Amino acid sequence: MKPRQLHTIGYSVEGRPIELWADPTGPNGTLIIGGVHPDESAAIPLVREFAPPRGNPVALLPLANPDGLVRDSRYNARGVDINRNAELNWRADSEEPSGQAPWSEPETQALQQFILSWRPAKIIALHWALGEIDADGMQSTTLAEAMWNALSEDERLPYRLRVTEAERRRLQQTEAECPGSLGRWAGYGLVYADGARPAMITLELPYDASVPRADPLPDDHFDVVRAHWARDPESYLAKVRAPVFKMLRAACELNLSTIP
Ligand SMILES: [Zn+2]
Repeated sequence: MKPRQLHTIGYSVEGRPIELWADPTGPNGTLIIGGVHPDESAAIPLVREFAPPRGNPVALLPLANPDGLVRDSRYNARGVDINRNAELNWRADSEEPSGQAPWSEPETQALQQFILSWRPAKIIALHWALGEIDADGMQSTTLAEAMWNALSEDERLPYRLRVTEAERRRLQQTEAECPGSLGRWAGYGLVYADGARPAMITLELPYDASVPRADPLPDDHFDVVRAHWARDPESYLAKVRAPVFKMLRAACELNLSTIP
């Protein structure tokens, strides 16, 4: 069943509504986001289809970047990667275009304002195709492990769990990797008024759900998943859907916080 209310939390550069289904705010809320990079296509229908378990507030944002979907692009209508436009470690010279300043894009403003007002205890953003459950910040470890533990041994094969690095190393990576990403901001930069921090997970869908996740990743992992999607999107979804929904249900049910 969908969360209770449809909200328009803002508008894209070209005026498309950014829509989200949400329960009223409350303790232990979970925000699930797709379509930050709309060319990572599978994330959008998965968030749209997901039926959260009852009992804790959930907000579902299937398409954070509607202008990008129209273009089948990673970027918004101004050519900005909205996952490089958040304020923590924002860099003008980021490898991906990061906008004129932190939060310069209407899509990131809408997301930031919703997060600050709804105050999720848990945030999960779906991307493809690194095949991993990536936890930002030590406060996110329990959530990442709950998602991993929701999977059978076979279902874990196309994923890896990425929580073991020491905090110091992770903070160094924060400088080098993904400057201005939602994950780095929410996982390392965001502190609510009561001092609590949200758990932040980037759930990277598999490049090939039929094979164990290689480490390092094959160079063509992105081409592999795009080719599969172009050929037969439903067969890709059929492989990843059940395990993803198990992880998301476990995330919604994990009690992490008494905020707000
Ligand atoms: Zn992505």
